[in-house]
Amino acid sequence: MIDEMYVKGTQVNYYFVCKTKLWLFSHYITMEHESDMVKLGKLLHKSTFKRDNKEIQIGPIAIDLIRKGKTIEIREVKKSDVFEEAHKFQTLYYLYFLEKLGVEGKAIISFPKQRKNVRLELDRSHRDSLDKILQEISKILKGEMPKPSYKKFCRKCSYFEFCFT
Ligand code: SF4
Repeated sequence: MIDEMYVKGTQVNYYFVCKTKLWLFSHYITMEHESDMVKLGKLLHKSTFKRDNKEIQIGPIAIDLIRKGKTIEIREVKKSDVFEEAHKFQTLYYLYFLEKLGVEGKAIISFPKQRKNVRLELDRSHRDSLDKILQEISKILKGEMPKPSYKKFCRKCSYFEFCFT
């Protein structure tokens, strides 16, 4: 098994959001259950794709799959498009992961509050970017915790008290 087969989609997401958060989450220091934002995300997810989704767990990834003829479609629901790049690469990573297992598919990210859908297909530049991202994640996790640096969204982060008090 290759290293990236152990990386979770959330870790790819946090790589873009904050390296400290990535490191803390990856070392099982989790406070996500305390965050109202996470609860809101889960609620949105349930209410948006209640009827036709099928969540499956493959190794470290949990995805909602819809079968469309011979192909599959991954569906992600996000509460906000503030971290659109992070969400995009998290979802592209799922496609990358499935491709390594010989499964090809497409993806759609829904932002219900913004009434926006983003459709994604994995291409060569995405694969190259994900190769580099996974290497960098591995390097970050082997090192010391990256020093927290204050960002405008830190107050909404579940690690805020851990980082700044
Ligand atoms: S509070 Fe800020 S620095 Fe700390 S983990 Fe969260 S986003 Fe990163």
